[in-house]
Amino acid sequence: MGRMAISTGGFKMTDVNMPEEYRLGEENRGFYHTMEGFDAARVLVSASCIGAAQRAMEIGMDYIKERQAFGQPLAKYQGIQFDLADMAAHHEAIKTLVYKTAWMLDKKYKEGTFNALEVSKYLSMCKYLAPHHALDVFRRVLYWMGAYGYTKECPLEMGMRGVMSYCIGAEGAANIQKIVISRETLGRDWTRTR
Ligand SMILES: Cc1cc2nc3c(=O)[nH]c(=O)nc-3n(C[C@H](O)[C@H](O)[C@H](O)COP(=O)(O)OP(=O)(O)OC[C@H]3O[C@@H](n4cnc5c(N)ncnc54)[C@H](O)[C@@H]3O)c2cc1C
Repeated sequence: MGRMAISTGGFKMTDVNMPEEYRLGEENRGFYHTMEGFDAARVLVSASCIGAAQRAMEIGMDYIKERQAFGQPLAKYQGIQFDLADMAAHHEAIKTLVYKTAWMLDKKYKEGTFNALEVSKYLSMCKYLAPHHALDVFRRVLYWMGAYGYTKECPLEMGMRGVMSYCIGAEGAANIQKIVISRETLGRDWTRTR
């Protein structure tokens, strides 16, 4: 649907023999190392979504100041302003969470201040909230643009397809983030399924 600049697909390796010197990390810990990479990438994905949402709001604000309906710019209507207020408030809250999480990750790697699971919870909170916030912003701004929003001429349709990839998958699906958040909030004994 989106992110056409990179291809997405799967691959399988069979009968692979790799000399010891090329091994990364400890033996039999590959899964954990991979997951650690996914974890760290969650804050980067979230930052991308915050940037995309920010740009969509800017494009939207330019548009509502320009577009006239019923004798005045759309920006003058409180119905539109309340929509913007809602987006702006959520945006600041989630952006602050993303900054805090990036700071925690830095501290974990550089000073060992936070443990991996503590940071994981925040990474999952970012990854759960930021893509959905971005998608919500794109949807609302598209609505502001009326029929023009529903065309490929409008720059937002491409962004909307792009941010949706982060809601669906890329660094873990939404429900998986919820599993991590509830597990690290409630405790593992309460969230174990088997
Ligand atoms: C654009 C894009 C790029 C990607 N790039 C990469 C990449 O570079 N490298 C890589 O390894 N992967 C990549 N992925 C894969 C991505 O990580 C997966 O798509 C994602 O983890 C979801 O897995 P799945 O597609 O198998 O869906 P599933 O795991 O089948 O999930 C389907 C649905 O079921 C829900 N679900 C699954 N398990 C549970 C559960 N236990 N409880 C409740 N609900 C559940 C999910 O929330 C989701 O809604 C990419 C995906 C996309 C869309």
